Amino acid sequence: MRSTMLDVPLQLRRILEHATSFGGAGRLVTAVPGGHRQATYAQVGQNAARLAHALNALGVHEGDRVATFMWNNQEHVEAYFAVPCMGAVVHPLNIRLGGAQVCYIANHAEDRVVIVDASLLPAFAQLLPAMRTVEHVVVNGSADHDLLDGSGVAVHDYAQLISAQPDSYPWPDTDERQAAAMCYTSGTTGDPKGVVYSHRSIYLHATGIALPDSFDLSARDHILAIVPQFHVLAWGLPYAAFLTGASLAMPNQFLAPEPLAAFIAAVRPNKAAGVPTVWQALLTYVDAHPTTDISSLEEAIVGGSACPPALMQAFEQRHGVTLLHAWGMTEMSPLGTLARPPAGADPEASWRYRLSQGRFPAPVEARLVGPDGSVVPTDGKSTGELEVRGPWITGGYYADDDPDKFHDGWLRTGDIGVISPDGYLALTDRSKDVIKSGGEWISSVDLENHLMAHPAVREAAVIGAVDERWGERPLATVVVTDGEQVSFAQLRDFLADRVPKWQLPERWALIAEVPKTSVGKFDKKALRQRHALGELD
Ligand code: ADP
Repeated sequence: MRSTMLDVPLQLRRILEHATSFGGAGRLVTAVPGGHRQATYAQVGQNAARLAHALNALGVHEGDRVATFMWNNQEHVEAYFAVPCMGAVVHPLNIRLGGAQVCYIANHAEDRVVIVDASLLPAFAQLLPAMRTVEHVVVNGSADHDLLDGSGVAVHDYAQLISAQPDSYPWPDTDERQAAAMCYTSGTTGDPKGVVYSHRSIYLHATGIALPDSFDLSARDHILAIVPQFHVLAWGLPYAAFLTGASLAMPNQFLAPEPLAAFIAAVRPNKAAGVPTVWQALLTYVDAHPTTDISSLEEAIVGGSACPPALMQAFEQRHGVTLLHAWGMTEMSPLGTLARPPAGADPEASWRYRLSQGRFPAPVEARLVGPDGSVVPTDGKSTGELEVRGPWITGGYYADDDPDKFHDGWLRTGDIGVISPDGYLALTDRSKDVIKSGGEWISSVDLENHLMAHPAVREAAVIGAVDERWGERPLATVVVTDGEQVSFAQLRDFLADRVPKWQLPERWALIAEVPKTSVGKFDKKALRQRHALGELD
């Protein structure tokens, strides 16, 4: 028997239309030098319509890729809606990747138009000659367009291009399974791979992350999206904000702790999202500048790599901010789990839950697969590689085979861990980072978390060093907090109280900073390369 329900497709234009009419009071605030500017969602919607007309006039058709090379700001959000709602595909390029990788990605995606922030134009001008399919560059903000002279590409000014266009657009009736956006993995462990999101997957993901046990978003919230729009669509926040009416604060290029703290003090968001290194830098700054006012922040979502417990505790105890641990992947739109404790958990149990990667929401189906390929129980003890599937999880990569990543219709995450009977995931490590010592596994993340709980340690990253006898042994690289002193023997003693003796690193290296990936994660690939060159011995 068929239902009597209307078969209305899940389209991004519905989210836009809702936000710009009944939700039109939502505000999008963008940091600018020395302050901020703001627009209502109704105004953002009008500009999105203007941009769609302008892109149409440039010859952008259904399915064409329109890339962005931008910070988090209002015009970037306008592109987030204009491009997919007109039937094309928005493709945020990662501005922090190496030039060769950005060009590889733009060529692979066959981007026809790129919208570029003026402050990024000098960097972009270097890349453009190697971008084979780009026909138009739209510059957002005032910049010297002569930088692109001789490129053979048409150059436009964003504000001028959209100014004379109508402020409404006859959005097409798009198939909900049609491509709406694409992002490439940041290549932490391999080459970048393209993931293509549909209208349906983004719509469902936006609804999913807004739920109370997830990001808990409503029209009463104001969210600061520190996570870049090129990093898995800013974790879906712009779409979820427009869906719920929550206001959005966008830091633009002002991401250093000092301007970020000033932006928070001025705009007073109550929620925020970013990777652990961003929170660590902000913590160091606000600890050193006690008059900084970040009191508006109630909750901050932290994900992208394991959040050190010491960081969560410091924010909570010293600044009253609850850091919420979340796990996800580019391939998962990105939300996989979020760590809010269950009802009735006492304070000690609550911390245990909060330090895990979190609980799976209903749309994310998960299983653990042991080394022999069989599914292991979700008993909180059995370890396996995590596999997932669901309506916002990719089933393949764009124009790129990677059969190893998929298994009977499930995505192999490359993450190793346990799942408790009540659905909480605790990751031990990435399969490429776990240290295989004499047939036993040592979690690099576990050692790092313990080390970073030492007051003299600002950052710690542990990698597997080749060892003749054991195969691999942990090599701990440590960044010491400014003004502190600590010896490796003291750190070893500190660890000895917390981990089994056989896991204690024999090799140590003091470094000035842990190298970071383009999205701010610890770059262990770079550390392994330095180790291979003998630099860390
Ligand atoms: P890349 O794989 O290029 O870094 P992603 O941002 O998609 O790009 O990274 C996803 C991976 O990041 C996950 O598979 C996992 O290993 C790691 N990750 C994300 N969030 C967490 C977390 N909360 N704890 C531990 N690891 C995490």
